[in-house]
Amino acid sequence: MTRRTFALPAFCLAFASCLAGPLNAAAWKVGTAEAKITPTKSIWLAGYGSRDHPSEGTRHDLWVKVLALEDADGQVGVVVTSDLLGFPPNVYDDLAAALEKQCGLDRAHVMLTTSHTHTGPVLHVALPDIYPLDDQQKQLIKEYTDELEKTIVATVARAMAERTPATLSAGQGKTTYAVNRRNNPEAKVPELREKGQIKGPSDYDVPVLAVRTPEGKLRAAVFGYACHATTLSDYEWCGDHPGFAQLAVQKSHPGAQAMFFQGCGADQNPIPRRSPELAEKYGNMLATAVDEVLQKPMRAVEPRLRTGFEFIMLPYGKTPTQEELAKLAEKSDYEGRWAKRLLGELAAGKKFATESRYPVQVWRLGEDQLWIALGGEVVVDYALKFKKMFGPTTWIAGYTNEVPAYIPSDRVWKERGYEAGAFSVYGLPTDAWAPGIETRVTDAVGRLVEKTK
Ligand SMILES: [Zn+2]
Repeated sequence: MTRRTFALPAFCLAFASCLAGPLNAAAWKVGTAEAKITPTKSIWLAGYGSRDHPSEGTRHDLWVKVLALEDADGQVGVVVTSDLLGFPPNVYDDLAAALEKQCGLDRAHVMLTTSHTHTGPVLHVALPDIYPLDDQQKQLIKEYTDELEKTIVATVARAMAERTPATLSAGQGKTTYAVNRRNNPEAKVPELREKGQIKGPSDYDVPVLAVRTPEGKLRAAVFGYACHATTLSDYEWCGDHPGFAQLAVQKSHPGAQAMFFQGCGADQNPIPRRSPELAEKYGNMLATAVDEVLQKPMRAVEPRLRTGFEFIMLPYGKTPTQEELAKLAEKSDYEGRWAKRLLGELAAGKKFATESRYPVQVWRLGEDQLWIALGGEVVVDYALKFKKMFGPTTWIAGYTNEVPAYIPSDRVWKERGYEAGAFSVYGLPTDAWAPGIETRVTDAVGRLVEKTK
Protein backbone atom coordinates (compact mmCIF):
# COMPACT_ATOMS: atom_id res chain seq x y z
CA MET A 1 0.00 0.00 0.00
CA THR A 2 1.21 3.50 -0.69
CA ARG A 3 0.51 6.66 1.13
CA ARG A 4 -1.33 9.57 -0.42
CA THR A 5 1.28 12.25 -0.68
CA PHE A 6 0.74 15.95 -0.25
CA ALA A 7 3.21 18.45 -1.61
CA LEU A 8 3.29 20.57 1.53
CA PRO A 9 6.45 22.58 2.13
CA ALA A 10 8.46 21.58 5.21
CA PHE A 11 7.62 24.73 7.22
CA CYS A 12 3.93 24.04 6.66
CA LEU A 13 4.24 20.46 7.96
CA ALA A 14 6.11 21.64 11.04
CA PHE A 15 3.54 24.39 11.65
CA ALA A 16 0.68 21.94 11.25
CA SER A 17 2.12 19.40 13.67
CA CYS A 18 2.80 22.08 16.34
CA LEU A 19 -0.58 23.66 16.13
CA ALA A 20 -2.72 20.67 15.51
CA GLY A 21 -1.00 18.12 17.80
CA PRO A 22 -4.00 16.76 19.71
CA LEU A 23 -6.43 17.07 16.80
CA ASN A 24 -4.03 15.47 14.40
CA ALA A 25 -2.99 12.74 16.77
CA ALA A 26 -6.60 11.76 17.51
CA ALA A 27 -6.88 10.52 13.94
CA TRP A 28 -5.13 7.31 15.01
CA LYS A 29 -7.34 4.31 15.61
CA VAL A 30 -6.03 1.86 18.17
CA GLY A 31 -7.18 -1.52 19.47
CA THR A 32 -5.77 -3.33 22.48
CA ALA A 33 -6.16 -6.91 23.67
CA GLU A 34 -4.36 -9.29 25.98
CA ALA A 35 -4.42 -12.97 26.88
CA LYS A 36 -2.97 -15.03 29.69
CA ILE A 37 -0.37 -17.54 28.46
CA THR A 38 0.75 -19.09 31.76
CA PRO A 39 1.13 -22.83 31.09
CA THR A 40 -1.51 -24.85 32.88
CA LYS A 41 0.63 -28.00 32.89
CA SER A 42 4.07 -28.52 34.41
CA ILE A 43 6.45 -27.92 31.51
CA TRP A 44 10.11 -27.01 31.13
CA LEU A 45 11.26 -23.43 31.75
CA ALA A 46 13.27 -21.68 29.05
CA GLY A 47 16.66 -20.04 28.96
CA TYR A 48 18.96 -22.18 31.09
CA GLY A 49 20.50 -25.55 30.27
CA SER A 50 21.12 -26.28 33.94
CA ARG A 51 17.52 -26.89 35.04
CA ASP A 52 16.72 -30.54 35.79
CA HIS A 53 12.94 -30.61 36.16
CA PRO A 54 9.83 -28.80 34.88
CA SER A 55 7.91 -25.89 36.47
CA GLU A 56 6.68 -25.99 40.07
CA GLY A 57 4.16 -23.16 40.09
CA THR A 58 3.36 -19.57 39.26
CA ARG A 59 4.91 -16.43 40.77
CA HIS A 60 2.77 -14.25 38.53
CA ASP A 61 0.93 -14.85 35.27
CA LEU A 62 2.52 -14.54 31.84
CA TRP A 63 0.82 -12.48 29.14
CA VAL A 64 0.72 -11.76 25.47
CA LYS A 65 -0.50 -8.24 24.74
CA VAL A 66 -1.40 -6.59 21.45
CA LEU A 67 -1.62 -3.02 20.21
CA ALA A 68 -3.21 -2.59 16.77
CA LEU A 69 -2.46 0.81 15.24
CA GLU A 70 -4.17 2.36 12.24
CA ASP A 71 -3.01 5.69 10.87
CA ALA A 72 -5.01 8.40 9.08
CA ASP A 73 -4.53 6.65 5.72
CA GLY A 74 -5.59 3.23 6.97
CA GLN A 75 -2.05 1.84 7.30
CA VAL A 76 -2.04 -0.81 10.01
CA GLY A 77 0.75 -1.94 12.34
CA VAL A 78 0.40 -4.52 15.10
CA VAL A 79 2.76 -4.65 18.08
CA VAL A 80 2.79 -7.86 20.11
CA THR A 81 4.61 -8.04 23.44
CA SER A 82 5.02 -11.29 25.33
CA ASP A 83 6.46 -12.74 28.54
CA LEU A 84 8.51 -15.26 26.56
CA LEU A 85 12.21 -15.99 25.98
CA GLY A 86 12.00 -15.51 22.19
CA PHE A 87 10.31 -17.01 19.15
CA PRO A 88 12.34 -19.69 17.33
CA PRO A 89 12.18 -19.46 13.50
CA ASN A 90 9.61 -22.28 13.18
CA VAL A 91 7.18 -20.52 15.53
CA TYR A 92 7.73 -17.18 13.76
CA ASP A 93 6.93 -18.80 10.42
CA ASP A 94 3.76 -20.39 11.83
CA LEU A 95 2.64 -17.07 13.29
CA ALA A 96 3.49 -15.10 10.13
CA ALA A 97 1.48 -17.53 7.97
CA ALA A 98 -1.53 -17.54 10.31
CA LEU A 99 -1.54 -13.74 10.72
CA GLU A 100 -1.39 -13.28 6.95
CA LYS A 101 -4.21 -15.75 6.40
CA GLN A 102 -6.50 -14.76 9.23
CA CYS A 103 -5.77 -11.04 9.68
CA GLY A 104 -4.32 -10.01 6.29
CA LEU A 105 -1.09 -8.84 7.94
CA ASP A 106 2.32 -9.43 6.34
CA ARG A 107 5.64 -9.50 8.23
CA ALA A 108 6.30 -5.77 7.77
CA HIS A 109 3.10 -4.89 9.59
CA VAL A 110 3.55 -7.09 12.66
CA MET A 111 6.22 -6.59 15.31
CA LEU A 112 6.42 -9.73 17.47
CA THR A 113 8.46 -8.83 20.52
CA THR A 114 9.51 -10.82 23.56
CA SER A 115 10.76 -9.85 27.01
CA HIS A 116 13.40 -12.63 27.10
CA THR A 117 12.19 -13.79 30.51
CA HIS A 118 14.12 -16.85 31.70
CA THR A 119 11.16 -18.04 33.79
CA GLY A 120 8.81 -18.57 30.84
CA PRO A 121 8.02 -21.78 28.94
CA VAL A 122 10.24 -23.60 26.42
CA LEU A 123 8.73 -23.41 22.93
CA HIS A 124 8.69 -26.19 20.33
CA VAL A 125 12.16 -26.74 18.74
CA ALA A 126 13.67 -23.74 20.54
CA LEU A 127 17.32 -24.20 21.59
CA PRO A 128 17.03 -27.90 20.67
CA ASP A 129 20.07 -29.22 22.55
CA ILE A 130 20.23 -27.37 25.84
CA TYR A 131 17.19 -28.82 27.60
CA PRO A 132 17.30 -32.49 28.71
CA LEU A 133 13.70 -33.18 27.65
CA ASP A 134 12.03 -36.58 27.67
CA ASP A 135 9.33 -37.52 25.15
CA GLN A 136 6.50 -36.52 27.48
CA GLN A 137 7.96 -33.04 27.97
CA LYS A 138 8.51 -32.68 24.23
CA GLN A 139 4.86 -33.54 23.67
CA LEU A 140 3.62 -31.08 26.33
CA ILE A 141 5.84 -28.33 24.87
CA LYS A 142 4.48 -29.00 21.37
CA GLU A 143 0.89 -28.83 22.66
CA TYR A 144 1.63 -25.60 24.57
CA THR A 145 3.28 -24.02 21.52
CA ASP A 146 0.33 -24.91 19.25
CA GLU A 147 -2.06 -23.38 21.76
CA LEU A 148 0.15 -20.29 22.19
CA GLU A 149 0.20 -19.66 18.43
CA LYS A 150 -3.61 -19.83 18.30
CA THR A 151 -3.88 -17.50 21.30
CA ILE A 152 -1.54 -14.92 19.74
CA VAL A 153 -3.44 -14.89 16.44
CA ALA A 154 -6.81 -14.66 18.21
CA THR A 155 -5.55 -11.82 20.41
CA VAL A 156 -4.27 -9.91 17.36
CA ALA A 157 -7.66 -10.41 15.68
CA ARG A 158 -9.42 -9.10 18.78
CA ALA A 159 -7.24 -5.97 18.95
CA MET A 160 -7.76 -5.38 15.20
CA ALA A 161 -11.53 -5.57 15.64
CA GLU A 162 -11.58 -3.09 18.51
CA ARG A 163 -9.85 -0.09 16.90
CA THR A 164 -11.22 3.20 18.21
CA PRO A 165 -9.92 6.81 17.99
CA ALA A 166 -6.87 7.50 20.11
CA THR A 167 -3.88 9.79 20.49
CA LEU A 168 -0.27 8.61 20.48
CA SER A 169 2.62 10.34 22.19
CA ALA A 170 6.27 9.47 22.72
CA GLY A 171 8.78 10.09 25.46
CA GLN A 172 11.93 8.76 27.03
CA GLY A 173 12.97 8.04 30.60
CA LYS A 174 15.96 6.43 32.24
CA THR A 175 16.87 3.77 34.81
CA THR A 176 20.25 2.28 35.55
CA TYR A 177 19.94 -1.28 36.89
CA ALA A 178 21.30 -2.89 33.69
CA VAL A 179 24.98 -3.83 34.01
CA ASN A 180 27.32 -4.76 31.15
CA ARG A 181 27.94 -8.40 32.08
CA ARG A 182 31.04 -8.78 29.93
CA ASN A 183 32.89 -5.89 31.54
CA ASN A 184 31.91 -6.14 35.22
CA PRO A 185 32.52 -9.31 37.30
CA GLU A 186 29.13 -10.14 38.87
CA ALA A 187 30.44 -10.57 42.42
CA LYS A 188 32.13 -7.17 42.33
CA VAL A 189 29.15 -5.19 40.98
CA PRO A 190 27.84 -3.89 44.36
CA GLU A 191 31.32 -2.60 45.22
CA LEU A 192 31.87 -1.14 41.73
CA ARG A 193 28.47 0.54 41.86
CA GLU A 194 29.26 2.06 45.24
CA LYS A 195 32.48 3.50 43.85
CA GLY A 196 30.83 4.67 40.62
CA GLN A 197 33.11 2.33 38.66
CA ILE A 198 30.58 0.26 36.66
CA LYS A 199 31.95 -0.11 33.13
CA GLY A 200 29.78 0.24 30.01
CA PRO A 201 28.68 0.19 27.37
CA SER A 202 25.04 0.13 28.51
CA ASP A 203 21.81 1.73 27.32
CA TYR A 204 19.80 3.16 30.22
CA ASP A 205 17.06 4.74 28.07
CA VAL A 206 13.42 3.81 28.67
CA PRO A 207 11.42 4.56 25.50
CA VAL A 208 7.69 5.05 26.14
CA LEU A 209 4.76 5.11 23.73
CA ALA A 210 1.53 6.33 25.36
CA VAL A 211 -1.89 5.59 23.88
CA ARG A 212 -4.69 7.76 25.23
CA THR A 213 -8.38 8.25 24.55
CA PRO A 214 -9.25 11.52 22.78
CA GLU A 215 -10.23 12.75 26.29
CA GLY A 216 -6.74 12.00 27.60
CA LYS A 217 -7.19 8.79 29.61
CA LEU A 218 -4.27 6.33 29.33
CA ARG A 219 -5.26 3.19 27.41
CA ALA A 220 -1.85 1.61 26.92
CA ALA A 221 1.83 2.25 27.61
CA VAL A 222 4.46 0.42 25.55
CA PHE A 223 7.96 0.67 26.98
CA GLY A 224 11.37 -0.93 26.57
CA TYR A 225 14.65 -1.48 28.37
CA ALA A 226 17.89 -3.18 27.39
CA CYS A 227 18.57 -5.76 30.08
CA HIS A 228 18.42 -9.56 30.15
CA ALA A 229 15.42 -10.82 32.12
CA THR A 230 17.63 -13.12 34.19
CA THR A 231 17.10 -11.97 37.75
CA LEU A 232 15.44 -15.32 38.39
CA SER A 233 16.51 -18.83 37.42
CA ASP A 234 14.13 -20.94 39.50
CA TYR A 235 11.04 -23.02 38.67
CA GLU A 236 8.09 -20.60 38.96
CA TRP A 237 6.46 -18.85 36.01
CA CYS A 238 7.34 -15.17 36.13
CA GLY A 239 7.94 -12.27 33.74
CA ASP A 240 11.05 -11.28 35.78
CA HIS A 241 11.74 -7.51 35.99
CA PRO A 242 9.69 -6.74 32.82
CA GLY A 243 6.75 -8.69 34.29
CA PHE A 244 6.92 -6.82 37.59
CA ALA A 245 7.29 -3.51 35.72
CA GLN A 246 4.12 -4.17 33.69
CA LEU A 247 2.20 -5.06 36.88
CA ALA A 248 3.39 -1.86 38.59
CA VAL A 249 2.47 0.38 35.63
CA GLN A 250 -0.99 -1.21 35.45
CA LYS A 251 -1.43 -0.73 39.20
CA SER A 252 -0.75 3.01 38.97
CA HIS A 253 -2.90 3.33 35.80
CA PRO A 254 -5.96 1.12 36.35
CA GLY A 255 -7.52 -0.06 33.11
CA ALA A 256 -4.41 0.65 31.02
CA GLN A 257 -2.49 -2.12 29.26
CA ALA A 258 1.26 -2.07 30.04
CA MET A 259 3.47 -3.67 27.37
CA PHE A 260 7.21 -4.34 27.54
CA PHE A 261 9.69 -4.99 24.73
CA GLN A 262 13.30 -6.03 25.29
CA GLY A 263 16.00 -3.72 23.93
CA CYS A 264 19.55 -4.59 22.85
CA GLY A 265 20.22 -6.27 26.18
CA ALA A 266 22.20 -9.32 25.05
CA ASP A 267 25.27 -8.30 27.06
CA GLN A 268 23.38 -6.64 29.94
CA ASN A 269 22.26 -8.31 33.17
CA PRO A 270 20.29 -7.11 36.20
CA ILE A 271 22.98 -7.40 38.90
CA PRO A 272 22.83 -8.36 41.75
CA ARG A 273 20.20 -10.99 41.04
CA ARG A 274 18.61 -14.35 41.92
CA SER A 275 15.79 -13.31 44.27
CA PRO A 276 12.14 -12.42 43.62
CA GLU A 277 12.64 -9.29 45.74
CA LEU A 278 15.35 -8.06 43.35
CA ALA A 279 13.20 -8.85 40.28
CA GLU A 280 10.37 -6.83 41.80
CA LYS A 281 12.73 -4.00 42.82
CA TYR A 282 14.08 -3.69 39.25
CA GLY A 283 10.55 -3.90 37.87
CA ASN A 284 9.49 -1.06 40.16
CA MET A 285 12.51 1.01 39.06
CA LEU A 286 11.50 0.54 35.45
CA ALA A 287 7.84 1.35 36.21
CA THR A 288 8.90 4.53 38.04
CA ALA A 289 10.87 5.63 34.97
CA VAL A 290 7.80 4.96 32.78
CA ASP A 291 5.50 6.86 35.18
CA GLU A 292 7.81 9.88 35.18
CA VAL A 293 7.59 10.02 31.38
CA LEU A 294 3.80 9.63 31.43
CA GLN A 295 3.39 12.49 33.91
CA LYS A 296 5.39 14.97 31.82
CA PRO A 297 4.35 16.52 28.49
CA MET A 298 5.13 14.03 25.73
CA ARG A 299 5.75 14.52 21.98
CA ALA A 300 2.54 14.12 19.99
CA VAL A 301 2.90 11.46 17.29
CA GLU A 302 1.05 12.37 14.08
CA PRO A 303 -1.21 9.63 12.64
CA ARG A 304 1.26 8.37 10.06
CA LEU A 305 2.75 4.87 10.06
CA ARG A 306 5.33 3.49 7.65
CA THR A 307 6.64 -0.06 7.93
CA GLY A 308 9.56 -1.92 6.38
CA PHE A 309 10.88 -5.47 6.71
CA GLU A 310 13.72 -7.53 5.25
CA PHE A 311 15.22 -10.92 5.81
CA ILE A 312 18.98 -10.68 5.28
CA MET A 313 21.46 -13.56 5.30
CA LEU A 314 24.21 -13.71 7.90
CA PRO A 315 27.05 -16.10 6.93
CA TYR A 316 28.77 -18.49 9.36
CA GLY A 317 32.53 -18.42 9.85
CA LYS A 318 33.22 -22.12 9.54
CA THR A 319 31.32 -25.33 10.03
CA PRO A 320 32.69 -27.96 12.42
CA THR A 321 34.44 -31.06 11.06
CA GLN A 322 33.44 -34.62 11.88
CA GLU A 323 36.61 -35.00 13.99
CA GLU A 324 35.84 -31.87 16.03
CA LEU A 325 32.27 -33.00 16.60
CA ALA A 326 33.34 -36.52 17.59
CA LYS A 327 35.56 -35.04 20.29
CA LEU A 328 32.81 -32.75 21.61
CA ALA A 329 30.26 -35.59 21.51
CA GLU A 330 32.12 -37.22 24.41
CA LYS A 331 30.90 -34.45 26.71
CA SER A 332 27.77 -35.12 28.77
CA ASP A 333 26.46 -31.52 28.69
CA TYR A 334 24.45 -29.65 26.03
CA GLU A 335 27.53 -29.22 23.86
CA GLY A 336 27.80 -33.02 23.77
CA ARG A 337 24.13 -33.31 22.78
CA TRP A 338 24.64 -30.64 20.08
CA ALA A 339 27.68 -32.48 18.68
CA LYS A 340 25.89 -35.86 18.70
CA ARG A 341 22.86 -34.42 16.87
CA LEU A 342 25.09 -32.83 14.22
CA LEU A 343 27.06 -36.07 13.80
CA GLY A 344 23.71 -37.80 13.23
CA GLU A 345 22.90 -35.29 10.51
CA LEU A 346 26.25 -35.90 8.84
CA ALA A 347 25.70 -39.66 9.02
CA ALA A 348 22.30 -39.17 7.34
CA GLY A 349 24.06 -37.39 4.46
CA LYS A 350 22.81 -33.92 5.39
CA LYS A 351 24.90 -30.90 4.49
CA PHE A 352 25.22 -28.22 7.13
CA ALA A 353 23.77 -24.77 6.48
CA THR A 354 26.40 -22.06 6.02
CA GLU A 355 24.25 -19.05 6.95
CA SER A 356 21.16 -17.99 8.90
CA ARG A 357 18.34 -15.72 7.79
CA TYR A 358 17.89 -12.66 9.99
CA PRO A 359 14.81 -10.41 10.29
CA VAL A 360 15.26 -6.62 10.28
CA GLN A 361 12.23 -4.36 10.72
CA VAL A 362 11.82 -0.59 10.82
CA TRP A 363 8.72 1.42 11.60
CA ARG A 364 8.31 5.17 11.48
CA LEU A 365 5.55 6.62 13.65
CA GLY A 366 4.60 10.15 12.66
CA GLU A 367 7.35 12.05 10.85
CA ASP A 368 10.29 11.20 13.05
CA GLN A 369 9.76 8.45 15.63
CA LEU A 370 11.86 5.53 14.38
CA TRP A 371 11.33 2.08 15.84
CA ILE A 372 14.02 -0.39 14.75
CA ALA A 373 13.21 -4.01 15.63
CA LEU A 374 15.91 -6.65 15.24
CA GLY A 375 15.87 -10.41 15.58
CA GLY A 376 18.23 -12.33 17.83
CA GLU A 377 20.04 -11.48 21.01
CA VAL A 378 21.44 -8.10 20.01
CA VAL A 379 24.33 -6.56 21.97
CA VAL A 380 24.04 -2.99 23.21
CA ASP A 381 26.51 -1.53 20.69
CA TYR A 382 23.77 -1.64 18.02
CA ALA A 383 21.38 0.52 20.07
CA LEU A 384 24.08 3.08 20.79
CA LYS A 385 25.15 3.11 17.14
CA PHE A 386 21.63 3.59 15.74
CA LYS A 387 20.90 6.39 18.23
CA LYS A 388 24.05 8.13 16.97
CA MET A 389 23.00 7.59 13.36
CA PHE A 390 19.31 8.42 13.61
CA GLY A 391 18.92 10.51 16.77
CA PRO A 392 18.86 9.91 20.52
CA THR A 393 15.12 9.20 20.68
CA THR A 394 15.29 6.26 18.25
CA TRP A 395 13.79 3.10 19.76
CA ILE A 396 15.60 -0.20 19.21
CA ALA A 397 14.07 -3.55 20.11
CA GLY A 398 16.05 -6.79 20.09
CA TYR A 399 14.57 -10.32 20.42
CA THR A 400 11.88 -9.40 17.87
CA ASN A 401 10.15 -11.71 15.39
CA GLU A 402 12.68 -14.53 15.74
CA VAL A 403 15.76 -15.26 17.77
CA PRO A 404 18.20 -17.36 15.68
CA ALA A 405 21.33 -16.63 17.77
CA TYR A 406 23.34 -13.89 19.47
CA ILE A 407 24.11 -10.87 17.27
CA PRO A 408 27.51 -9.48 18.26
CA SER A 409 28.86 -6.13 17.09
CA ASP A 410 32.27 -6.08 15.38
CA ARG A 411 33.77 -5.18 18.77
CA VAL A 412 32.21 -8.15 20.57
CA TRP A 413 32.93 -10.46 17.60
CA LYS A 414 36.64 -9.57 17.86
CA GLU A 415 36.69 -9.91 21.65
CA ARG A 416 34.91 -13.31 21.42
CA GLY A 417 33.29 -14.77 24.54
CA TYR A 418 29.72 -16.00 25.02
CA GLU A 419 27.83 -13.18 23.27
CA ALA A 420 29.99 -13.57 20.16
CA GLY A 421 27.96 -16.61 19.24
CA ALA A 422 26.83 -19.28 21.72
CA PHE A 423 26.05 -21.29 18.59
CA SER A 424 25.88 -24.68 20.31
CA VAL A 425 23.21 -23.18 22.61
CA TYR A 426 21.22 -22.26 19.50
CA GLY A 427 21.91 -25.61 17.83
CA LEU A 428 23.60 -24.06 14.78
CA PRO A 429 26.46 -25.79 12.93
CA THR A 430 29.24 -23.24 13.51
CA ASP A 431 31.30 -21.64 16.24
CA ALA A 432 31.32 -18.05 14.93
CA TRP A 433 29.74 -15.65 12.46
CA ALA A 434 31.83 -14.67 9.46
CA PRO A 435 33.39 -11.21 9.85
CA GLY A 436 31.25 -8.20 8.97
CA ILE A 437 27.75 -9.04 10.20
CA GLU A 438 27.48 -5.60 11.87
CA THR A 439 27.82 -3.99 8.44
CA ARG A 440 25.13 -6.26 6.97
CA VAL A 441 22.68 -5.43 9.78
CA THR A 442 23.50 -1.70 9.66
CA ASP A 443 23.05 -1.57 5.88
CA ALA A 444 19.64 -3.28 6.13
CA VAL A 445 18.50 -0.86 8.83
CA GLY A 446 19.71 2.06 6.70
CA ARG A 447 17.74 0.81 3.67
CA LEU A 448 14.55 0.43 5.71
CA VAL A 449 14.93 3.81 7.40
CA GLU A 450 15.11 5.35 3.91
CA LYS A 451 12.14 3.29 2.76
CA THR A 452 9.94 4.52 5.61
CA LYS A 453 10.59 8.22 4.93
ZN1 LIG B 1 19.83 -14.33 26.47
